[in-house]
Amino acid sequence: MKGLVLEADWKPREGYTLTEFERVTGKAVTGSSVWKNPRLRLRDVPEAPVGPRDVRLRPRACGICGSDVHFYETDPDGYMLYPGLTKFPVIIGHEFSGEIVEVGKEVRDLRVGDMVTAEEMIWCGECTPCRNGYPNQCLRLEEIGFTTHGAQAESLVIGAKYCWKINELADVYGDVDRAYEAGALCEPTSVSYNAMFSRAGGFKPGGYVTVFGTGPIGFAAIALARAAGAGRVVAFEVSPVRQELARKVGADFVYSPADLERQGLRPRDVIMEVTRGEGADMHVEAAGAPPRTIPEMEETLAVGGKIVMIGRASDRVPMYLEHFQTHAGQVFGAQGHSGYGNFPSVIRLMAARRIDMTQIITSRFPLDRAVEAVQKAIRREDGKIMVRS
Ligand SMILES: [Zn+2]
Ligand SMILES: [Zn+2]
Repeated sequence: MKGLVLEADWKPREGYTLTEFERVTGKAVTGSSVWKNPRLRLRDVPEAPVGPRDVRLRPRACGICGSDVHFYETDPDGYMLYPGLTKFPVIIGHEFSGEIVEVGKEVRDLRVGDMVTAEEMIWCGECTPCRNGYPNQCLRLEEIGFTTHGAQAESLVIGAKYCWKINELADVYGDVDRAYEAGALCEPTSVSYNAMFSRAGGFKPGGYVTVFGTGPIGFAAIALARAAGAGRVVAFEVSPVRQELARKVGADFVYSPADLERQGLRPRDVIMEVTRGEGADMHVEAAGAPPRTIPEMEETLAVGGKIVMIGRASDRVPMYLEHFQTHAGQVFGAQGHSGYGNFPSVIRLMAARRIDMTQIITSRFPLDRAVEAVQKAIRREDGKIMVRS
């Protein structure tokens, strides 16, 4: 079968000491310190066998994620930009949906022909965090498209327990291709759902919500805030294309921090205006720029307000904690999308047409041109790029 394979050279940076875990597993915990000269090409790869509790999918839609772009982009020394857990070579692609074409003999709830989406976090279910109800903090985590083969391919074998049926989306969209695209968007949408509702406990209907950074995670946060009854949703984004999409998925106010700066304003000024001086009940960080975003959030936190950290960044940020005491404020860290009813809730919201994430898709490519799709994503002029097969 064909798959979009990412290869890179295992060359730890000078001064970087490999951990015992990295040496034994061949997995880099800090990818950007270990992998050099990433290369991407469509290649023939042997098909994996289907174990008793696995299913084989024919991927039908798979989104290009910011992480995929960061695998491929390098710094001036030739090291890849992606800072997380990685093992190469690997077929990339972790935001996907597909049709089940084979089921293992112990699989009970899935049938050939079912339409499914799947989690990307392969939690073990046996380590202490998993057993204590924290699958996204699994100690033996594998990640589809990062450490094991992903869905930019003609075939993918995955444990049945990570799959969620999306058959009903075909009726809702009346178009199977569009239903598969919606299915592929369940993964990034569930990341936002997990952070805002499962980790941070949400906000009351009528609450004011801000979203800093509107890539696909930010778009999902906007759509979910709207669906959950936010009084006003305020978004901050520099890209004009993405500002427009932010409005489309439900932001009431969209500002460019760069434009504000030219007017001598900061996000905090417009947030206080839009929230009528009360501040935001929930701030969502989806920009991965906490040194710039956190001070704005801190200054505009409503009493009882929450800051939800989804964007990834390796910076330390000074915080004025007195503010959190006087405002009964809280900060929530979140990663991943597994557990807590995240996926099924997102699928229900899509099936009820309360959110339509397919609106953020701006380009589509066939699998044969998947390298081109990643190259286009580097130009950052799209909402979401979808590879379809
Ligand atoms: Zn992703
Ligand atoms: Zn585990």
